[in-house]
Amino acid sequence: MEVRILGAHSTEVERLRMVSVLVDGVLALDAGGLTSSLSLSEQQEVRAILLTHHHFDHTRDLVTLGVNGATFPNSVEVYALSQTLDVVNSCLLDGKMYADFSKWPSKEKPFLQIRAIEPFQKWTIDSYDVLPVPVKHAVTSVGYQVTSKHGKSLFYTGDTGPGLGSCWRHISPHLLVTEVSGINALEDFLKSVGHLSAQLLKEELIQFRQIKGYIPRVVVIHIPPQFQREVEQEVEEVARELGISVDIGYEDMVIIL
Ligand SMILES: [Zn+2]
Ligand SMILES: [Zn+2]
Repeated sequence: MEVRILGAHSTEVERLRMVSVLVDGVLALDAGGLTSSLSLSEQQEVRAILLTHHHFDHTRDLVTLGVNGATFPNSVEVYALSQTLDVVNSCLLDGKMYADFSKWPSKEKPFLQIRAIEPFQKWTIDSYDVLPVPVKHAVTSVGYQVTSKHGKSLFYTGDTGPGLGSCWRHISPHLLVTEVSGINALEDFLKSVGHLSAQLLKEELIQFRQIKGYIPRVVVIHIPPQFQREVEQEVEEVARELGISVDIGYEDMVIIL
């Protein structure tokens, strides 16, 4: 399984993009930095997009992919919770902001094929098993465990705050892609808006080890560019304290499982 971090940041500045992760070139997790990362021919290979929640930094490129999709031979499936789809459909794809690519070029055969999913209901996309598991964000959100036919698996939390113990019980990934959205000094604020600091991540990883008996490889994304260096230092400290390696994700980072 090839996991490519397309966007590793919580916002966009020169060379840094909003979050999106691509599995084997065909399965996208979130769509914050999808079209700004991929060539037209690479975008054409994307078969499905799994949305963790409705926030703009995770859904934005549904619109630009929709525009580019005009010349693509195949449609793209977009999977999300119904709560996520309610907002995406009424705000981003409302037909007023721009064209509604879930009804275009025709209602019968739109480019974006929208599919509602439910927590804990496993399904298969091509040869990948996908399991959505609720996480703790400010709005209703799921993380996704994606398992290849070779048994390699990734869990992507999307945006999440602390309290992932019940989530950890449902998954057993080789790779955990998760978030740190600010510095330790802002812990109270981060908690209040459903995000993690390095210190909060440490507590979640300790709990993961208690529940599962191991800690998977960890890659941290959703980093605010303003705090890049501080977050790197604080994550490094956590890795040292836990005796594991935690990678700071970056644009176009490729991980082979
Ligand atoms: Zn969010
Ligand atoms: Zn976000």
